[in-house]
Amino acid sequence: MTFSVHGLAVARGIAIGRAVLMASSRVDVAHYFIKPEQVPTEIDRMRSARDAVIDELQRLQLDMPKDAPHELAALLDVHLMLLMDEELNTSVVHWIKERLYNAEWALSSQLEIIARQFDEMDDPYLRERKADVEQVAERVLHSLKGTGSLVTKVTRPTRPQQELQLGDTDVPLVLIAHDLSPADMLQFKQSVFTGFVTDVGGKTSHTAIVARSLDIPAVVGARTASQLIKQDDWVIIDGDAGVVIVDPSPIILADYGFKQRQGDLERERLARLRHTPAVTLDGQKIELLANIEMPEDTAAAITAGAVGVGLFRSEFLFMGRKGDLPGEDEQYQAYRRAVDGMNGLPVTIRTVDVGADKPIDEVRRDAAHLNPALGLRAIRWSLADPAMFLTQLRAILRAAAHGKVNLLIPMLAHGSEIRQTMGLIDQARHELDRRGVAYGPVHLGAMIEIPAAALSLRLFLKYFDFLSIGTNDLIQYTLAIDRADESVAHLYDPLHPAVLRLIADTIVECQRQGKGVSVCGEMAGDVTMTRLLLGLGLRSFSMHPSQILSVKHQVLRSDTAKLALWAGQVLDSEDPASCMTT
Ligand code: PEP
Ligand code: MG
Repeated sequence: MTFSVHGLAVARGIAIGRAVLMASSRVDVAHYFIKPEQVPTEIDRMRSARDAVIDELQRLQLDMPKDAPHELAALLDVHLMLLMDEELNTSVVHWIKERLYNAEWALSSQLEIIARQFDEMDDPYLRERKADVEQVAERVLHSLKGTGSLVTKVTRPTRPQQELQLGDTDVPLVLIAHDLSPADMLQFKQSVFTGFVTDVGGKTSHTAIVARSLDIPAVVGARTASQLIKQDDWVIIDGDAGVVIVDPSPIILADYGFKQRQGDLERERLARLRHTPAVTLDGQKIELLANIEMPEDTAAAITAGAVGVGLFRSEFLFMGRKGDLPGEDEQYQAYRRAVDGMNGLPVTIRTVDVGADKPIDEVRRDAAHLNPALGLRAIRWSLADPAMFLTQLRAILRAAAHGKVNLLIPMLAHGSEIRQTMGLIDQARHELDRRGVAYGPVHLGAMIEIPAAALSLRLFLKYFDFLSIGTNDLIQYTLAIDRADESVAHLYDPLHPAVLRLIADTIVECQRQGKGVSVCGEMAGDVTMTRLLLGLGLRSFSMHPSQILSVKHQVLRSDTAKLALWAGQVLDSEDPASCMTT
């Protein structure tokens, strides 16, 4: 039966494919496809892990003190029975053999199915047995952790041609998950999925931002999607409308198939603008820069015709490493690859911005704090660990010997933070001098992401060569709306008069002082905002490479003189959104 789930539109376009459910087990589960020849080994891994748990439980039974409660022995019996249940084992083996899922993924997929069956039971006693199955499966998952690779990259299964089932490798897959961390999302850059849906997340959550950089349709904040959609369901993801249609009828499928082809044609048309200079009708040159997460993303930036990198989110080099942070040389190599990749065009490297919805990993610092978005995040994190910060600064300065590099500092609010940062940049240079290591000049920039910063522009411009407005956080902190929380997503409003005022004042003050200013938040890549930002005087936009051509299309049709008059009215309006269609 066809039904739809509504969420937030994150990355445009239509994806049609079969659902792959990323199980939301409490254990950190690796999901990857194995090779056909690995099937027997994977089944063995599964059986060994299960046998190890059986052994463990049987030993527990033997060692149980005489006075142990009777319920404990009964519980162990139930768990042992479940472990030995042939149906469960056959189903897990089925996922391994037929889908080429790794053992952990196979087990958690089956667990998800069983959990749903228990949820539907009328008898409360039986319903509660779900917890037993989960506990048993989690024991096996833990046991599996020690027995094999924990690769999390999901690549298309490489089943030999003669073994293919009908349409096997041609069936597009879409990923449905309760939540994905930005680091998980990054893994999917090389994956097979043609679309994503998550239950949680806001439009500018970092997970959504990475999804956008993949340039495939995505919907976040779809609440119960991962519970309603079943493994293998046919799903349409409408990334423009934020709608997920499950089990569509042939008529709906045909309609969306048509929309998908229209989208492809539109992209082909836009691709012709790649070499066209971004100049408005009245001759204003507009700088269209790329946001990247990894040095390799520079290829996409160049392909899209970016004239530089306006934001390299360096924190992605730091994530998911279980506390083992990249050293100076590793970072230097990464920054250098980005500089080399841009062939002489400028690269703006932002120092690490972890914390809030970008935990570096589960064990490091801030993630568990009450209010992580207001906690030890970004520059605060860096200043709290000067040795780590100096390592990064030295690596960036060294990369600057190979091309134009701008050094950008996130989340500054206080004069003392600015002065401390400047002191550490000087110290990093001295350390390199002492070691006789080459480094290059950098322009220094600050992100304007906190209202306090936007209200202290003179202070900022005394120290910095340029400012970059991070609208994602500026909106979050001005309106007190968690950017990653779908329950308040309707209040996350880039057009709130206060937000527009802070953006406009920052642009004007930078221009008055002859300093560079750009917007690198998601607003810069949103084509519905391009005319307004041009009207407010913005001439430098930084966005994901996938958005550059659409924004350029808007730029080419704009007259900034006319837009300035209109933007003034929008700025003064009580309800700016109502002025946007005129
Ligand atoms: C922003 O806040 O707008 C920004 C560009 O930084 P990030 O999205 O990485 O927080
Ligand atoms: Mg930010």
